[in-house]
Amino acid sequence: MSDTQAISSSAQVVEAKPAPVVAVDDNPILFYCKDCAEIVETRRVGGKYVYTCKKCGTKNVAFGTKKSIYGFFKLADKEKAKLREEKREEKRRMQMEKSSKSLPPRAV
Ligand SMILES: [Zn+2]
Repeated sequence: MSDTQAISSSAQVVEAKPAPVVAVDDNPILFYCKDCAEIVETRRVGGKYVYTCKKCGTKNVAFGTKKSIYGFFKLADKEKAKLREEKREEKRRMQMEKSSKSLPPRAV
């Protein structure tokens, strides 16, 4: 069996990298549909600053910079919560993998 080889190769895999910092200097404009409760694509109505949601068709669309939209609708919080959840999932999975690899605890 080549158990020792498998262990040594998997040991160098885990190295948490910091999340990439994206410099937003062009600060893109986003459209947020309050009905869909998400960032959506829009269609501009006439020459006015009225936009309709491509998804549901209402004019219940707010727009602004990514920063302001995220801040106003607390999307960052939602995303953070999602990330936290994902991380927790990953941790659990890794722990399960680890525990399945390691030897069962010896009964005392
Ligand atoms: Zn919509």
